[in-house]
Amino acid sequence: MKILAAKKILKVNDQLAAENRAKLDAAGVFGVNLVGSPGAGKTTLLEAIFAQFKDRLRMAVIEGDIAGTIDAQRMETIGVPVLQINTEGACHLDASMIGSAIGEMDLKALDLLVVENVGNLVCTAGYDLGERLRIIVLSTSEGDDKAIKYPAIFQGSDALFITKMDLAPYLNFDVARITADMKRLAPHAPIFLVSAQTGDGIAEAAQWLAEKIRSKKSSMD
Ligand code: MG
Ligand code: ZN
Repeated sequence: MKILAAKKILKVNDQLAAENRAKLDAAGVFGVNLVGSPGAGKTTLLEAIFAQFKDRLRMAVIEGDIAGTIDAQRMETIGVPVLQINTEGACHLDASMIGSAIGEMDLKALDLLVVENVGNLVCTAGYDLGERLRIIVLSTSEGDDKAIKYPAIFQGSDALFITKMDLAPYLNFDVARITADMKRLAPHAPIFLVSAQTGDGIAEAAQWLAEKIRSKKSSMD
């Protein structure tokens, strides 16, 4: 019985996610669901990528956190409009939360909406939010074995951003190992090696994302 209930919740979520996607498409907004563990460097990565997009794309962020507004404050500091969702204990965002959030936003004024999900490699995998791309962020400090241990979240992602590459030499992080795992789990997904500290790889990653947004837009015109 519990399995049926869980399936029903996910089915409702999928319907709401499809509505969110339709709403974003109609307004010409490209949605990104950014997932990864606590401390993977999701917010820092966003700051670095947004710096590349400044004056070129109109961006906004939805920050999902169990509590607090620390990441949202960081977005305000760099001048990116932000809406905070506090899940009050829930360990992931779902499509109904995103539906409420986008109802509060002026979508016509945006090109890109990034949802920074709650830091969690487990149940975020099961909840489509209505995004066009899901990007998983993995830091070198978490270890190169995570795709084997949490396959679902890697499998369903459209790109892998490996952060804190400047620390890789000290952590025995094996890029070849995770690359091989990704080839098996998500062969279509590109892998970007980045460091927000040194700036390495940031321009390439931003370029790839900008190209995705541009090709989506031109397919809608
Ligand atoms: Mg964050
Ligand atoms: Zn959860």
